[in-house]
Amino acid sequence: MKVLVSYNPGDDSVLGEVPVTDAGDYQRVLKQARQASIGWQAMPMDNRVALIREAFGLVDGYSDNLARLLSREMGKDLRRSMGEVKGAVYGAGVIAGNARQALQPEPVSARERVEYQPLGVCGVISPWNYPLAMAVNLMVPALVAGNVVIFKPSEETPLIADHVVQILNQVLPDNVLQIIHGDAEVGRMLVDSDIDIVAFTGSRRAGKEIMQSAAKRLTRLVMELGGNDPMLVLNDADLQSAARFAVASSFENAGQMCTSTERIYVDSRVAETFEQQVVAIARQYSVGQWNTPRVNIGPIINSRQHQKITEHISDAVEKGARLLLGETAPAGPFIPPTVLADITPQMLTEQEETFGPVVAISRFNDLDDAVARANASDYGLGAVVFGGEDAAAVASRLQAGMVAVNQGVGAGGDSPWVGAKQSGFGFHGSAAGHRQFAQLRVMSL
Ligand code: NAD
Repeated sequence: MKVLVSYNPGDDSVLGEVPVTDAGDYQRVLKQARQASIGWQAMPMDNRVALIREAFGLVDGYSDNLARLLSREMGKDLRRSMGEVKGAVYGAGVIAGNARQALQPEPVSARERVEYQPLGVCGVISPWNYPLAMAVNLMVPALVAGNVVIFKPSEETPLIADHVVQILNQVLPDNVLQIIHGDAEVGRMLVDSDIDIVAFTGSRRAGKEIMQSAAKRLTRLVMELGGNDPMLVLNDADLQSAARFAVASSFENAGQMCTSTERIYVDSRVAETFEQQVVAIARQYSVGQWNTPRVNIGPIINSRQHQKITEHISDAVEKGARLLLGETAPAGPFIPPTVLADITPQMLTEQEETFGPVVAISRFNDLDDAVARANASDYGLGAVVFGGEDAAAVASRLQAGMVAVNQGVGAGGDSPWVGAKQSGFGFHGSAAGHRQFAQLRVMSL
């Protein structure tokens, strides 16, 4: 039997292992899913919601252990891991309630109504950067809608996913939620199989492969992909709060966040002050293991990703960027707080998602040029503007699924978490998001 070994990214120690799902195992999982689907679909939605809430209530009781495991397996500090566990538990309850409401039949005339039917089997494929939150966001609406779920977590974080599924399955009926393990190969096996919808969060590269494969059966897709989020700082911005946001958003989760600020365009009239403030704030951040007190930047998930971030920093410096803070060749597994200025469109930090704790600043003299550069990306997840009274008008010119003024994107509630352009299509959150997990049926009576 092949196994997937889980390592602590902070010190490479072995945390445990899970069996890799092979083709034979997978056929059994799929058959079980189809059988379980019959009873789950037949169950009244209110009962499904009650079971989901009860199951996540049980998860809450294990929060301490789960947060420690999440930290050890993914590297983020314990406070952030606890936030993710608690957020996933709370979020599951909220999503379940909102999905329940969104999926009620709707009369459209005296003789007709629209119904939201289960699709069948939903494959959920998730990344490692928020291994619980990302899975829950897709899994819960799928289950409420009456689908059964086959869940393929990231190969970087199999243990935390496995533990949570074991807890949930103490409450959920057999095989309504099954987990399979392995790398992209196992993900491909799931997507290639006879399932009804794939809900995916991860990289654009994988998203494109999944879409190609899904085309064979016209399998429905929900795709939440990467980002290369811009931030504009106008000359009348509150520079201190803009600098705080720039650093916090670039460094959150060691920069391994889909809506991390990746590119900053600052008006040259205030650029010097802004850069100084960014450096002063960035200096206060420190790298370290998840259990080191007051650490806010953990290790980078793996050496491949560490190499990519290092390449982006050295490429920028070689092409003329000023390194205001950090190193060009930091030793793994950490990347110290890094601030680069004078970024140009030719540099990798501008063109690709760096996914590391790097603040990358460009100055602009002409606002139209800055807007054009912000929009000159195939990605379009989030975008942020800091400024005075013109900020909202500037924000309305940005091509992104989520745009915010003087704050981060995704204000919360049940608003959609949505990307534009190649940051994906399909999304979670909001009534429209929940309804993607159901088949629309028009019933004429
Ligand atoms: P990844 O695409 O490498 O892997 C994500 C998952 O997909 C893993 O479970 C992986 O095994 C699986 N996978 C990879 N290739 C596959 C294929 N061809 N077929 C089926 N499954 C496949 O991404 P990652 O490195 O785990 O996560 C980081 C990426 O996720 C970043 O680009 C980040 O921006 C993005 N992300 C986006 C959001 C969002 O809400 N839009 C949220 C979190 C992360």
